[in-house]
Amino acid sequence: MINNRGRVFSGARPTGRQHLGNFLGAIKNYVALQEYYDCVYCVVDIHALTTMETTENLKANTMDMVLDWLAAGMDPQKSIVFIQSHVPEVMELHTYLSMVTPLGKLTDLPTFKEKVRENPHNINYGLVGYPVLMAADILLYKADFVPVGVDQAPHIEFTRECVRSFNYRYNSNVLIEPQMKVTEFPKIIGIDGTQKMGKSLDNHIEMASTPEETTKRVMMMVTDPQRQRRSDPGNPDVCNVFTFHKIFSSKEEVDQVNRECRSAEIGCVDCKKLLAKNLNNYLIPFREKRAEFAKDEQKIWDILEDGRIRAQKIAQNTIEEVRSAIGLP
Ligand code: SF4
Repeated sequence: MINNRGRVFSGARPTGRQHLGNFLGAIKNYVALQEYYDCVYCVVDIHALTTMETTENLKANTMDMVLDWLAAGMDPQKSIVFIQSHVPEVMELHTYLSMVTPLGKLTDLPTFKEKVRENPHNINYGLVGYPVLMAADILLYKADFVPVGVDQAPHIEFTRECVRSFNYRYNSNVLIEPQMKVTEFPKIIGIDGTQKMGKSLDNHIEMASTPEETTKRVMMMVTDPQRQRRSDPGNPDVCNVFTFHKIFSSKEEVDQVNRECRSAEIGCVDCKKLLAKNLNNYLIPFREKRAEFAKDEQKIWDILEDGRIRAQKIAQNTIEEVRSAIGLP
């Protein structure tokens, strides 16, 4: 892992089995970045605690998410894959960064206001400090780049401000400003055809579903609302099924659906059956790999432990430099 390729850091909350929105919006990119950068991928379980009512499924959800990551092509030989809480240095850096972060700045952040709206009965201290912990994650591992969608740009800008404040306050250059690696993540709409795919809305399709479950979910997808009868011409441009065809079907099939939908030669049932077939075919290697990994959970914990050791080595170096910059005795 020691070279000059630059380091990428990204973290995700342990949300259990991943859906196609997670895959197309993040995991696929994680896998691709491994070819060009030294990547550090983290299950941010401490972040999850800020809004979690019970930790009952935390361990199982972590395992499920990591299984999906690995089966999708995340390679622990190339990347560091670990669990945030296993490297407690992040909490120490979080504390130091909190000393150079004005409280008003945190409570003014749109993400804080959004979280308050979502969790009106649990506005805890952790929610306020959430962006500081996120900055600590990035800075602890001295990430050069953070893959983000355009809407997450303010988080990285906040992190860069933390670096400037810290380095100015302690007259140091220990922390480095990360760059955004802006990626145009496709916005994946759920099977309801209107809202972003997400578990809480139950409009998702899990990557690890069986072929039968997957087909069932595809058959539930909302299509062009104007197309009432089989004989009505449809409009693929407003149909989410067609969007998925563009991702999972061949060019010939996409062209065919596009043409035959508009002329009412193909019905929505057949169109969805074709999509389900292609999606299931696409997921075959993923499912096989996942089943293989799932046979030996201890191996996954070993991978995460190896990731912990490698991540902690970087973290301890950073913390040493940070303590020295602050002048702690
Ligand atoms: Fe959508 Fe396919 Fe039906 Fe056309 S035929 S409206 S693309 S599901």
